[in-house]
Amino acid sequence: MMRRQIDVLVVGAGPAGLAAASLLAATGARVEVLEREQRAGGVPRHCAHRGFGDRPRTLTGPAYARLLADAARWAGADVRTGVTALDWAGPRTLTTVGPQGAETLAARAVVLATGARERPRAARLVPGTRPAGVYTTGELQQAVHLYGQHIGTRAVIVGAEDVSHAAADTVRAAGAAVVALVTELPRAPAHLARTLDARLRHRTPLLTGTTVTELLGHGRLSGVRVRHRDGRTATLPCDTVVFTGDFVPDHELARRGGLTLDPATRGPAVDGALRTSRPGVFAVGSVLHAVESAATAAREGAHAATAVRDWLAGTTGTAGTTENSGNTGNTGRGAEGDADWPSGVPLIAAPPLLRVTPNRVTPNRVTPADRLPYILRTAIPLTRPVLYVTQDGRPLHRERFLLTTALPHRPLTLTARWAHRVDPGGGPVRVTVA
Ligand SMILES: Cc1cc2nc3c(=O)[nH]c(=O)nc-3n(C[C@H](O)[C@H](O)[C@H](O)COP(=O)(O)OP(=O)(O)OC[C@H]3O[C@@H](n4cnc5c(N)ncnc54)[C@H](O)[C@@H]3O)c2cc1C
Repeated sequence: MMRRQIDVLVVGAGPAGLAAASLLAATGARVEVLEREQRAGGVPRHCAHRGFGDRPRTLTGPAYARLLADAARWAGADVRTGVTALDWAGPRTLTTVGPQGAETLAARAVVLATGARERPRAARLVPGTRPAGVYTTGELQQAVHLYGQHIGTRAVIVGAEDVSHAAADTVRAAGAAVVALVTELPRAPAHLARTLDARLRHRTPLLTGTTVTELLGHGRLSGVRVRHRDGRTATLPCDTVVFTGDFVPDHELARRGGLTLDPATRGPAVDGALRTSRPGVFAVGSVLHAVESAATAAREGAHAATAVRDWLAGTTGTAGTTENSGNTGNTGRGAEGDADWPSGVPLIAAPPLLRVTPNRVTPNRVTPADRLPYILRTAIPLTRPVLYVTQDGRPLHRERFLLTTALPHRPLTLTARWAHRVDPGGGPVRVTVA
């Protein structure tokens, strides 16, 4: 099997991986980005709607994907499509397979940017038959926008988040009708404008407090059975159902590599510089938190580039030596330098908060690169919440959100200004809400 050495290996050419690759290639590092799909750009490739880019979010997904992929190539990154990273062959070495066959790539630093995947119907334990016409959002968008396939005539959308409305738009773009958006939540979780647009402009019913209990039909889907919170049941006739919004980090490589996973996000645990538990391995984007905006993913890619540069330059850990690689042209301090890699104190979001990213704190390493704000999610609406950060009962920070109602399915951002107060030898840091 062919074996090559490079400086930085980025796995995944979505917004996060491409943003990291652009900045790193611009510094002169040899950067390769591997993308298992035939085109670079990640999820935005098949999101035809507008809403991408930094504010104002006016770009369509494909335009945004092209912009990022072009920027990475112009900066000098080698963006290779149709190539999948399969497994680890060393701490920073991966086996890959692509059109040219199998290859082993040894890198001085690895950036995991593998994104998230949607849980399919089977994983959501919806009983019933197994007819055709059952999609996730990603499958629907690829069928319609990438392959121009016919998807049916009447669709029920399971979920009512922003991503569910994007799925509804795709159904309409394919010439089919949206029968209803169905959510178990007591109120619509999407931005108000999207909910009103669905209700008033498209006249699409939005069924809150409603659960899909069964899929019906043999061969082709003929309907879905639903149960309202008051116990009433009904059948919605349809030939298509789209399960939306239930994302999990695509953490397969992280898991196979034995990287520490955060129990709340199920992605690799990372500190404020987006360092994973393995020296020289970083993680960015939806693999950390399924799913925030593409701009957030790209920002994390750019942020991690600073820490990767530090690692390559030898200011953290082993100066980015390639294992078994002989002379890598840097001043590496030897393998024992891996011990300098910060393990970080766990950061835990207490209920009703669901998760926080980053989820490790490395207090004695608080450089500008460590000041990425923390992104939280909540299970229930919180009106004007006050967040407390404590360690072993010691208060570290208190933040009031006077003008904010934190909602499920929306990010809540907490400053990292308190991170230097954390005791590296102390217990986990907790974020609680009052
Ligand atoms: C339906 C939908 C609508 C959305 N709408 C918006 C919107 O309007 N505005 C907005 O800002 N955000 C939107 N988002 C969110 C946005 O798409 C994500 O935040 C963003 O794509 C995350 O970027 P990423 O690079 O982390 O992951 P992805 O975009 O998921 O990219 C990860 C890439 O890694 C590749 N990959 C994974 N494993 C491997 C491997 N082993 N080897 C090689 N390649 C691999 C994948 O093929 C993929 O291309 C939407 C998301 C969805 C699903």
